[in-house]
Amino acid sequence: MHAVGDRAARAGLDAVESVRASNGQSGLRHEIGHTAFVHADDHPRFKLLGMVADMSPRLWFPNPVTPGQVKVLGPVRTQRCHQIKSLMLAGAELTYGSDWPAAAADANPWVGLAGMISRRNPFGLFPGFVGEAEAIRIEEALPLFTTQAARSMGLENVTGRLKAGMSADFIRLAKPLNGQSAEEIAKTKVLETYFEGRCVYGMSLA
Ligand SMILES: [Zn+2]
Repeated sequence: MHAVGDRAARAGLDAVESVRASNGQSGLRHEIGHTAFVHADDHPRFKLLGMVADMSPRLWFPNPVTPGQVKVLGPVRTQRCHQIKSLMLAGAELTYGSDWPAAAADANPWVGLAGMISRRNPFGLFPGFVGEAEAIRIEEALPLFTTQAARSMGLENVTGRLKAGMSADFIRLAKPLNGQSAEEIAKTKVLETYFEGRCVYGMSLA
């Protein structure tokens, strides 16, 4: 399900809580997409209910939508957008959301990753921060794209890690991400993409 406001997120959590009470634990990992605003009281409920918060990347830093958010929500509540670190500290499982080309020109995940670790606009187009205290470290951010994304789809034994017996799905970059600034990360270009051990994008295809 998809929820942007804190009331909608609470309705989603309530719905799963109610179904779990009547039907028991099905093993499904229900997911709330966007989770832009989640009331602090609801942060621990993701862990309690085994639910996943799927975060929408293009709003993690000042962007064309931010002035509108400030108008409607006020400056203080706007800064509470996408509390990734708070949710993480409350034990919530998080993934990187892909339901967002509707609000952005492209689906470039590197821009989202840059925003996750800096909460600044990686191109310097809009000043300031969105939720500066919610920035996380790169080593905390990458699992949202890999192991946790796989888990949210029930594929944790298939993909998301490089390990014998797992699907060899990986990308090759020119240099390691660690040590790069958010602005450099936003400009990352993938050299090659491998799926099930086969190059599906890049120079080895030629
Ligand atoms: Zn949506």
